Amino acid sequence: MKVFFIGFGQAGGKIVDRFIEFDNRTNGSSFRAIAVNTARTDLMGLQHLNFEDRVLIGQTSVKGHGVGTDNDTGAQITFDEIDIIMNAIDRKGIGDTEAFIIVSGLGGGTGSGGSPVLARHLKKIYKEPVYVLGILPAPEEGRLYSYNAARSLATLVKEADNVILFDNSAWKNEGESIKGAFDRLNDEIVRRFGLLFRAGEIGQLGIGEMVVDSSEIINTLRGGGISSVGYAISEVINSAPVEKDRSFFDRIIGRKQIEERRPEDKLLGEDKTSRILSLVRRAMLGRLTLPCEYTTTSRALVLVAGPPDDLDRKGIEKAKSWVEENIAGVEVRGGDYPAQSRYVAAVVLLASIADAPRVTNLLEIAKETKATSERIDEENVLKLDESIEPLFE
Ligand code: GDP
Repeated sequence: MKVFFIGFGQAGGKIVDRFIEFDNRTNGSSFRAIAVNTARTDLMGLQHLNFEDRVLIGQTSVKGHGVGTDNDTGAQITFDEIDIIMNAIDRKGIGDTEAFIIVSGLGGGTGSGGSPVLARHLKKIYKEPVYVLGILPAPEEGRLYSYNAARSLATLVKEADNVILFDNSAWKNEGESIKGAFDRLNDEIVRRFGLLFRAGEIGQLGIGEMVVDSSEIINTLRGGGISSVGYAISEVINSAPVEKDRSFFDRIIGRKQIEERRPEDKLLGEDKTSRILSLVRRAMLGRLTLPCEYTTTSRALVLVAGPPDDLDRKGIEKAKSWVEENIAGVEVRGGDYPAQSRYVAAVVLLASIADAPRVTNLLEIAKETKATSERIDEENVLKLDESIEPLFE
């Protein structure tokens, strides 16, 4: 799929920078990107985006220092300076772009406030769908982050064609600081979405037997709302020997190359089918980017990537049927992505889900936070003696 990424704010910029690194490293040409921010230093810290693709907004109001966690200001600056962003997109050229993906941390200020504004403008101007890959804050970041995320999310589901979420708190390890986890979390993000969004392109081993093309991803996401992604990998047993060098696909999934396999390890027929089925089950029942009640999914897409010998058509069909039996909707698309590797990977896109406890919890925190801050504004005022006259009225 040809994707135009816009990294908005610090998290968005860093993650998009990683997508570009991934595309360069795997000799792809599917991704193009710009980064937008109100903070100059965040833009300077990026490593893979061209300098001309880094867009600083709000220079007159915040002078390159960012908006802190004030997402109202993030939204206002984006409204005021939308032309600067649209010009940067134009300058880059959308070429054969099939979808826009805005990436941002929803708990902060710039990306949280700016993303919904940008989604609205992109939708006005281009016919291609506009998706958001949104990062939810961890509760320990404080109630303001949750409040920001809830407001941004409530706006995004109206403005964007679909909002795919990654929940930082579900991915952070026990005892690990959120900042310390960013690099690892960003790897997890790029691994899943990198593979999903590369679907349909012609890889080194040609096109799949059951190719997933861009229109299938778009149709899966067309119900809007909130979506989540599952992922699992398994080492193949019947792979043809691969070069010592890490193959293209191993670089995607981030695994080191291992040595050759014995031919007698070959799996046949039913074994292959059941391995694919169990891999897809693991992807859907394991840790999702946004933990959710998967039975409430409207549409799903199953992508299985790996050596052609292991990409069993019957297995993929069975896996699709299994997914269909377990979700609310009836539309399950799917296919394969052949790649030389010692691994088979399954990505399951659960689109338009109706129940995600973390989102419900975020909305509750946001409501409480709003009520508390209104009460504080009203009640918590230092009362001065009214008999003292002010200097002037
Ligand atoms: P902004 O620059 O004002 O848009 O705000 P940030 O992007 O800095 O932060 C917003 C949210 O993104 C917070 O909840 C952070 O925890 C999260 N965040 C910041 N950087 C990263 C990152 O590199 N990876 C991930 N997964 N989350 C991040």
